[in-house]
Amino acid sequence: MIRSVVIVSALCFLFISLFLLQRQEAGGPLVRARMLMGTVVEIKVDGPDAERFEAAVTEAFNAMERIERLMSPHVPDSDVSRLASAAGPVRFAPETLEVLQIALEVADVSAGAFDPTLGRLVRLWGFAEGAPRLPEPAEIQAAVAGPGTTGLEIVGRLVSKESPHVVLDLGGVAKGYAIDRAVEVLAAAGAGHAAVNAGGDMRLLGDRHGRPWKIGIQHPRQPGNVLGVLELSDRAVVTSGDYERAFEQGGVRYHHILDPRTGYPADRCQAVTVVADHAAIADALATAVFVLGPESGMALLNSFPGTEGLIVAADGQIATTSGLREVITWP
Ligand code: FAD
Ligand code: MG
Repeated sequence: MIRSVVIVSALCFLFISLFLLQRQEAGGPLVRARMLMGTVVEIKVDGPDAERFEAAVTEAFNAMERIERLMSPHVPDSDVSRLASAAGPVRFAPETLEVLQIALEVADVSAGAFDPTLGRLVRLWGFAEGAPRLPEPAEIQAAVAGPGTTGLEIVGRLVSKESPHVVLDLGGVAKGYAIDRAVEVLAAAGAGHAAVNAGGDMRLLGDRHGRPWKIGIQHPRQPGNVLGVLELSDRAVVTSGDYERAFEQGGVRYHHILDPRTGYPADRCQAVTVVADHAAIADALATAVFVLGPESGMALLNSFPGTEGLIVAADGQIATTSGLREVITWP
């Protein structure tokens, strides 16, 4: 917990310093940052006319804020919170419905490794509240027992749950979707070169000065070091890691990506990075592959044409899709 706070504070300081430095660069990129969805979101617009996108950047942040208001478990009247407390059907906003459809698709292709209905388990571990704890085995057994995604019913925009056991949690996909919305706003305003970065998960619009953007992938066991550098344009890149929200007890690391089958943190990977056209699908896939582990996870990535990925297994072994090898440089 204390470690997480320190890491978050350090990240905030880094982002704010970066923000102030880049703001002072005359004719440089337009860089703005806001705290959203429990993380620092940075939007950067590049190019000689970057200054004229100030209003579009504000609009892009507002679009992300709307997604947070609709999908956060911490906002009492979000679609997710209303479903959690409702006895009957709840009318979802089109955006929430779209995210739910993506989540259900990834749940399906990952044979339930990605499960957007494990909100009870997420609450039990307390990661979302910032006060994680190791639950009793009986509590975990009770939290995993349930119908899973089949316990949700969708009729038009009305969503209902079979029992109070089914608690929607879009934490593994909604951040990516919010990034996509922001990029759409920037593109609609005419920005051709931009990056939206939400705590390391990002989507790139166009290239940077005629060359690909260079994106460092955080080393899962060496804080501050990069594992590799990706050169990408017009792509999303999202990482799920066991170091992001974690605590240690009795020499064991417990983190926030949970295996729906066991109820415990998934233990087959240290980190998974996915490159795709959209951040929402990259976000959901990174979480799914993390739970599935290197073998099934790689098979899942290869079944999505145009989607690339890098998997760091629990023992530190690195595996990549063939397309990723063309865009990565190792340090
Ligand atoms: P990912 O791997 O992308 O996702 C892990 C998250 O997905 C877990 O935290 C859990 O919510 C869920 N999950 C775990 N296991 C599975 C699984 N097997 N299948 C499917 N989903 C799973 N954080 C704050 O501290 N304060 C906030 O106010 C806050 N508000 C948020 C509002 C929204 C709308 C969203 C999307 C996130 C918010 N967060 C907030 C952050 C959130 O708690 C998670 O940290 C974040 O979504 C996880 O993203 P990630 O990239 O670290 O990990
Ligand atoms: Mg994810």
